[in-house]
Amino acid sequence: MEPVTLPVDRVPPPARHRYDHQPRLVFWETTKACPLACVHCRAVAQPAPAPGELTTDEGIRLIDELGAGPPPHPVLVLTGGDCLMRSDLLQLAARARAAGVPVAIAPAVSPRLSDDVLASLRSLGVRHLSISLDGATAATHEGVRQVPGHFAATLDAISRASALGFQVQVNTAVMRANVEELADVAVLLRRLGVRIWEVFFLVTVGRGTDVREISPGETEDVCHFLVDVAQRGLVVRTVEGPFFRRVQTERASAADTAGSPPGSLLAHLRSALAWGLGPPVQPVVAPSFGTRDGKGVIFVAHNGDVFPSGFLPLPLGNVRNGGLLDLYRDHPLLRSIRAGELSGRCGTCEHTDLCGGSRARAFAATGDPLSEDPACALVS
Ligand code: SF4
Repeated sequence: MEPVTLPVDRVPPPARHRYDHQPRLVFWETTKACPLACVHCRAVAQPAPAPGELTTDEGIRLIDELGAGPPPHPVLVLTGGDCLMRSDLLQLAARARAAGVPVAIAPAVSPRLSDDVLASLRSLGVRHLSISLDGATAATHEGVRQVPGHFAATLDAISRASALGFQVQVNTAVMRANVEELADVAVLLRRLGVRIWEVFFLVTVGRGTDVREISPGETEDVCHFLVDVAQRGLVVRTVEGPFFRRVQTERASAADTAGSPPGSLLAHLRSALAWGLGPPVQPVVAPSFGTRDGKGVIFVAHNGDVFPSGFLPLPLGNVRNGGLLDLYRDHPLLRSIRAGELSGRCGTCEHTDLCGGSRARAFAATGDPLSEDPACALVS
């Protein structure tokens, strides 16, 4: 049989970048308990643990499974709620270290995030920590987090964690309330010495259904702005915004790397960024691979239910009934997502492998997790 020649932009990525065998990131919602009540919370967190949360032994079984295969093992991201509300957090971190499973933590900023706890986690090999910052001012951030003084506490937590040797990633959810001050957030991150910025494009689940989203045109502007930020030396990642990789690719291959004429939001953000961080210091770099819900990413909820991501509420199974990795490898929906068996514009798009759209947003909009992502400018 003659080999099939594919156009270069439709050649499947190498197996390790398709994440067919195992995910790159396993998010474990260790508890629903959290001292905060953020307006966009996916988890609809609550003050106390929910009934039926995975026990220590069940968590250890999950960790051991991730560490059982040949390295590199998936990174286990301990989220919540607030993972610091788990009394066995240090025990779980120690077990992960013994199993060779890298751990990242995503704690809430509260009095529980003390230097003692941070130092203990560092001593157990935990190096990556993410902290949410939802604005460049106290008014904006605290409008989201609903806790007076939380902005200053967050900046302090970032500084303390960095000083203790953590690689700190800052997470920002983009919404109408903060989109105009994203450049100021980037400047603030530089001042704090943060190198990794993860920008989350809202999907209307959990408390996020009460938050005003931005339009597809503004989303495109934000993506171009984030390419500009990356040119200033920050590592930019997105959550539920895989079309950012399409914009990066287009910009990297364009003769004019600024892209098409900016919308008013982009013009505003660019001007504030240039004022705060000066001109670009590096070229636009095209990404070579990417993850999306169910492709490189899997989510284990507090009660063991498994989902393609924390924003796609379609249960696939439960770790109490079987192995997570078998479920990840074999579930028909995840196989379809990884194979790019998508419909609508995402199904015909030349960027399907690299982007593929947010499966969570497609599901929220249509009820079909394989349909097109309505936030993408190519769709609308
Ligand atoms: S149409 Fe779909 S696959 Fe193409 S860039 Fe937009 S979101 Fe990505």
